[in-house]
Amino acid sequence: MSAPIVFSGIQPTGRKHLGNYIGAIRQYVEGQERGEPAIFCIVDLHAISVAYDPAELRERLYDTTAILLAAGLDPARCILFRQSDVREHTELTWLLSAVTSHGDLNRMHQFKDKSTQQRELVSAALFFYPVLMAADVLAYRATEVPVGDDQRQHVELMREIARRFNERFGETLVEPEHRIPAIGARIMDLQEPERKMSTTAASEAGTVYVLDEPEAIRRKLGSAVTDSGREVRRGEDKAGITNLIDVYAVARGVDPGEVEREFEGAGYGDFKQAVAEATVDFLAPVRQRYAELRPDEAALEATLAAGAEKAHAIAAGTLTEVRDRMGIGPA
Ligand code: ATP
Ligand code: MG
Repeated sequence: MSAPIVFSGIQPTGRKHLGNYIGAIRQYVEGQERGEPAIFCIVDLHAISVAYDPAELRERLYDTTAILLAAGLDPARCILFRQSDVREHTELTWLLSAVTSHGDLNRMHQFKDKSTQQRELVSAALFFYPVLMAADVLAYRATEVPVGDDQRQHVELMREIARRFNERFGETLVEPEHRIPAIGARIMDLQEPERKMSTTAASEAGTVYVLDEPEAIRRKLGSAVTDSGREVRRGEDKAGITNLIDVYAVARGVDPGEVEREFEGAGYGDFKQAVAEATVDFLAPVRQRYAELRPDEAALEATLAAGAEKAHAIAAGTLTEVRDRMGIGPA
């Protein structure tokens, strides 16, 4: 079997949280060991699909870059770049829109969820988000896309887009597979465990940020919503405890079943405290390295620029072929 081509994107909006870290970033670090190449993209063009502040977007972009590097992405072993630096993404978005079904876009859960949260404008960009995401991945003919569970439907759609393109214009694009972690694919909000932990619809108390101080992590996990029972075990009716078991399992690198056995007979209070300590230990090294990396914006820019050059070289090849197949530009 040949090595996978790994691609994933992460938004530079707001502050990255434990869900992003467990569902996505952790998988990126693992993916860079297998991918040939492994490509990771900070998707600033996705971030403008909802209300935002331009100056803050630039700051958050550096924050996100530094978090990824602090988590263990190594520019010597992966391609790390800023989406808007590689213009092929936007061009391919338009070209792919010709083989994207409007009805499919209408069915996207993320659009339904996020459009109801917008106070002023539901942008066309928010509706078109999955087409840009398809272009991100298909431009590199990626075979593997590490994402959290919430992105399942978008990966399904990009497969459909690739399929339709190939049927219409001849075999050109690759249908990628999603790679969703077995544990921690959907970390839930600590205050509303029926809702995923999220950047845009974040409740401060329910969201653990990667850069939170230990005290903040302890406070948030200590007040996590649980249930009226007393058993530390997973269950349909135990969303809060199930979520905490997943967090603990990932942070300590053990099986959820083992966690249940370890805490048999323990109270929720003791369990929450243990989850807090495990999370503090889990995130501390990232926070420390981040503090060293974040101040040097020139170095971060240099890393992104070098990444963009490599990414561009790949994407440009795909675009030449796509344009040619579609009859765009001179033969
Ligand atoms: P937004 O709510 O604005 O979409 P987000 O928190 O989902 O932001 P993204 O940058 O869109 O952040 O997602 C980056 C990656 O993190 C994606 O692969 C996504 O699937 C994953 N992810 C996001 N939230 C969670 C979560 N609660 N649990 C696990 N993975 C998650
Ligand atoms: Mg998201």
